[in-house]
Parts: sequence; C-alpha cells; structure tokens
Amino acid sequence: MIGSDCMEKVRGILIGRMQPVHNGHVQVISRILEEVDEIIIGIGSAQISHELKDPFTAGERVVMMSQALSDMGVDSSRYYIIPMQDINFNAVWVSHVKMLTPPFSIVYSGNPLVKQLFSEEGFEVRQPPLYDRLHLSGSEVRRRILNDEDWKELVPQATVDLLREINGVERLRNLSVKEISDI
Ligand code: NAD
Repeated sequence: MIGSDCMEKVRGILIGRMQPVHNGHVQVISRILEEVDEIIIGIGSAQISHELKDPFTAGERVVMMSQALSDMGVDSSRYYIIPMQDINFNAVWVSHVKMLTPPFSIVYSGNPLVKQLFSEEGFEVRQPPLYDRLHLSGSEVRRRILNDEDWKELVPQATVDLLREINGVERLRNLSVKEISDI
C-alpha cells in the first residue's frame, strides 16, 4: 500500500511576532531543524501592523522569513510559514493554532503564556536557547532604527532588503512621530 511504510514526520512549531525577523529567530530555527524533520513558523499577531511595536504586515514578515531561510540554504520542503491572527480567548487559542497548521507534536517557545497554554493541552514544550537576547530582539532592532544606530548587524540581509523595498525605516519613523504627537 502506497505510503504505508512512510516514517511519520516529527514537526515542531515556533510562534513569534517577528517584528522584524532578526538573527535570533533564524539561529533558533536552524537549531530546531536539527531536532525535527519539519518546522512550522507561526507569524503571530498577523492582524496587527503599522503600529510602533508592530510595524510590519504579516505578508511582509512572511517575505523576510522565507527569503532569510532561502538565503541560508534551508530546503523549502522543511518549513511552513503561517500567519496567525490573535483571538480574544486564550483558553481556545491552541485549537485556533491547530486549525491553521499541519499536525505537530513539539512546541518551541520562551514565552510563558505560550508555554502554559500548550502544556495544558498535553504538548511537549521545549525552551529553545536564546542567542544574545540583549541585542537580538525585535524591540532592540526597532529602537536602533528609530535612533539611527546600526540595526542591520542584528538582522538577516532579507530583512534589510524587505525594509528597503517597503520604505520600512521611514514607516517606523512616521509611526513614532504620529504616536508622540498623539500624546
Ligand atoms: P517573539 O517574536 O518575541 O519571540 C518568538 C520566539 O522567538 C521566542 O519564543 C523565542 O523562542 C524566539 N526568539 C526571539 N529572540 C530570540 C533570540 N535572541 N534567540 C533565540 N530565540 C529567540 O514573539 P512572542 O511574543 O513570543 O510571540 C507569541 C505570539 O503568540 C504573539 O503574536 C502573541 O500575540 C501570540 N499569542 C496569542 C494568543 C491569543 O491570541 N489568545 C495567546 C498567546 C500567544
């Protein structure tokens, strides 16, 4: 029978806002790919964009991530990039995520709420290593962009290219001016 002798694939999931995709994300994904056959990358808070803490659309974050993984030579058959909107109800969020994704068994997260919700539903939750968290965080990248400091060293070339394509630096600066004048 076709497929009856196929080994079941081990899939892991990593969910993050990725605002923007930085070197910590791509390093941790490389590491996770040493442990699983396939990784599901959830682009969280997909409905939010054009805000100071969440400047980029889900589609823009998908481009940053897929191009970064392609540049690293990761075979596209090994990952799924799936935008995920937030929902108001934490108690059913895991079901919402499951509805959007291929089946998975291992959840990678450093986020306490994400870890709590998935372990309550019986998933194996692993804490991935954090790489240079002081500098490799979305908030540090956004802070450096706004302060005209070197942010490009913190992100893959794919993020630099996408921000250039969409005038992302200008967008972030405009958002910051607007929010300050709104106070
Ligand atoms: P994030 O982008 O801050 O981090 C995502 C993951 O990337 C982290 O868990 C961590 O494992 C990894 N990472 C980040 N920096 C790293 C570094 N320097 N080195 C190694 N790894 C690094 O995103 P987050 O806040 O954890 O995202 C969770 C998402 O889930 C959010 O979009 C949130 O809204 C969503 N969520 C929604 C609900 C709901 O809708 N009810 C409930 C829970 C979570």
